[in-house]
Amino acid sequence: MAAQPELEHPRKAFGWAVRDPSGVFSPFNFSRRFSNKHKMLRTKLIATHLTNRFNLFFRETGEKDVAFKVLYCGICHSDLHKAKNEWGTSTYPLVPGHEVTGVVTEVGSKVEKFKVGDKVGVGCLVDSCRSCQNCSHNLENYCPQYTLTYDDKYKDGSITYGGYSDSMVADEHFVVRIPDGLPLDAAAPLLCAGITVYSPLRYFALDKPGLHVGVVGLGGLGHMAVKFAKAFGANVTVISTSPYKKEEAIQHLGADSFLISRDQDQMQAAKGTLDGIIDTVSGVHLLLPLIGLLKSHGKLVMLGAPEKPLELPIFPLLCGRKIVAGSLIGGIKETQEMIDFAAKHNVKPDIEVIPIDYVNTAMERLQKADVKYRFVIDIGNTLKPSP
Ligand code: NAP
Ligand code: ZN
Ligand code: ZN
Repeated sequence: MAAQPELEHPRKAFGWAVRDPSGVFSPFNFSRRFSNKHKMLRTKLIATHLTNRFNLFFRETGEKDVAFKVLYCGICHSDLHKAKNEWGTSTYPLVPGHEVTGVVTEVGSKVEKFKVGDKVGVGCLVDSCRSCQNCSHNLENYCPQYTLTYDDKYKDGSITYGGYSDSMVADEHFVVRIPDGLPLDAAAPLLCAGITVYSPLRYFALDKPGLHVGVVGLGGLGHMAVKFAKAFGANVTVISTSPYKKEEAIQHLGADSFLISRDQDQMQAAKGTLDGIIDTVSGVHLLLPLIGLLKSHGKLVMLGAPEKPLELPIFPLLCGRKIVAGSLIGGIKETQEMIDFAAKHNVKPDIEVIPIDYVNTAMERLQKADVKYRFVIDIGNTLKPSP
């Protein structure tokens, strides 16, 4: 029988979990790991109430583990898909959160990159096989055996819980450094939304000045795609269902033009103008009008993960040798590169910082695309452990 979440590991942890596909969040006690080597000893120490004293002498973390106090966690639309079991893969109780930032509290004896007090983050991955072809090319995100930050299992079979919680523990390989110029609240969404758009812009060579890049869906991912594409020097067109986002997209986010996807005249006038499109839409939508916007050899890169398959018309692809592709987050090395790029070029998400007890309302608003453009939970100041 599986261990109780709060007894699975020796380190107490606290967060907010959703218990069933209703998607309603409530407080949740669980636990996080430390070094197996000291597990037995630690258990005895807890029993004799000597834990605090002996923590001075015995390391609590695995040799390569970094433990950190979570201060902020972004709310990705994937958290909503998962909370409501829209992909049919959720197991409950589920603590989401893969845009996690905080400050290091402990490091294992063999940690080389980090020390106590460092500002760090964890994105969507906490482990991978480290030996497959993808892992050896810094593409842990395409490792067949990766371990997701939440709703997944570590190699020892225990469950992963995400950043809607007070603490995180991860192997240093999966921890990134947050540069000084980047506040921890604004840095959080970079760890999923940021890398998810940065990686395909780079890989599909849409990062060249003067290219015409479309961004479909102006949400968490979409607004970061606009900002990164502009930082690369592209001419950016937003394709949106929300007319009210136009003014801000152009005046504040720096987009060059704005199309309403349901306005056939606008879409027709822009036909064949784009070198590439980053599609971040979370729901089912038509691809035909988007393929029509591409020039010959243009690339439509799918990033959104709707719960149902989309219809892919083939003829418009043939006529123009167009490409439809997909992309999943990014590797750890590239995530660090993206964070450093963001700090250097002042690419920051627009966030609405919320207390943890607002999370249920935030999810309702996210469902309605009513956020500019990412909710970030202020974990450090608002998550209080249950007595
Ligand atoms: P989000 O903040 O909710 O943004 C999605 C945007 O898509 C909305 O703001 C809305 O923009 C548009 N939209 C929503 N429903 C639509 C519909 N039915 N038809 C047309 N447009 C619609 O979500 P997000 O956090 O950016 O995530 C977007 C998607 O990417 C989710 O499915 C998420 O699971 C997925 N995702 C994938 C990866 C990856 O690695 N590939 C990583 C993270 C997230 P407008 O108002 O402008 O139309
Ligand atoms: Zn995400
Ligand atoms: Zn691998």
